[in-house]
Amino acid sequence: MGFFKFLDRNHFSCTNCGKCCQSGWNVAIRPSDVVKIEASVAFKTRHKAGFTPIVLDEGQHLAGKNSNGGCTFFTHNGCEIHRELGSSSKPGICQVYPFQMAVTPDGIYVSLAFSCPAAVAGFGLASESYEQELTTLFREPLAEATYEYLRTADTPIEWMDYCQLEKQMLAELSLTLDDPVSTLLQWACRVIHPQATSEELDSLYDLAFNLLPLFATSSLSAIENRESNEARQEFQERLIQAEGVRSEHLGCELPAFTLCRPQDTITREAVSRYIRQSLEGKRLLSGPTLATRLLLLGCGVALVLYLNQALTKQIDDGRFSFAALEKAFEVVEFEMITHGDCMDDLYREYESVLVKSARAL
Ligand code: SF4
Repeated sequence: MGFFKFLDRNHFSCTNCGKCCQSGWNVAIRPSDVVKIEASVAFKTRHKAGFTPIVLDEGQHLAGKNSNGGCTFFTHNGCEIHRELGSSSKPGICQVYPFQMAVTPDGIYVSLAFSCPAAVAGFGLASESYEQELTTLFREPLAEATYEYLRTADTPIEWMDYCQLEKQMLAELSLTLDDPVSTLLQWACRVIHPQATSEELDSLYDLAFNLLPLFATSSLSAIENRESNEARQEFQERLIQAEGVRSEHLGCELPAFTLCRPQDTITREAVSRYIRQSLEGKRLLSGPTLATRLLLLGCGVALVLYLNQALTKQIDDGRFSFAALEKAFEVVEFEMITHGDCMDDLYREYESVLVKSARAL
């Protein structure tokens, strides 16, 4: 069995806000739990009322959804499966969330998904308090994991070299809190071209910086319009061409995309904690490459700051609003970073443009 590595200053206690239960995410149910849940009162009541509490989708059992897209088992009393059958009968993801695991040669690093407002707030129990619960859920032997990490598409990076690099990045992070996006892009450029002179790095960074709005808005357009290429393109053009656009996903008007810096202490602290735990939690190693992940994180943080500013203006006329910060993190963390597979091609392209430019220097 693997062992867990918990990060300092990573705190979380569930406030039972129900956000994760009502977010419309697809929740897989383990075959071993399907029988138990089908025998529950919660299941039978819903089934009798004409609902489909467990859906079979391409061979996988998923929790059914109610009319607003939330989990059918969630009520104003919380999770009905939890109440009737206990926490251990809930779908695996519901028991683990918002913890994120990264399996490495040194053990399993545990970080927090910032799509959970309690993780953004950063209060509550230290992560290590949950060790016992996590241990019962994660029993895959470490030996089964493979540890092949890539710096860029065609350059591997050894685990120890990555650890050294991470140490350097963490040491710099506390010095660069006012402009986290630039810091992440600079790190990406150094990862892409480790031997570059400072002039070469400056030139690569300028390119990365100039391209960022294109990739950030493209990501937001993909989140907004999953189906149609034309709709995605139109949405992106309006975001870039200073026209502003209505986001159905967020239920509000979005202004033209701009690069923002953290405007207040709470945002600065939350963004810094987010970057720190992404690094220490080894989430940069989740592939496809380290450079791709740094570019994705750079655009992700840029979008958190932009959305936070846009939503703050609408929610509370520009004064700090935790609801805005929480929503900005939810969109970016869930739609872009955690389920970043759909973004992989886009950010590989970002990396590839920079790699080509680095070779030509
Ligand atoms: S979103 Fe976070 S705080 Fe809210 S119910 Fe889910 S785990 Fe708990």
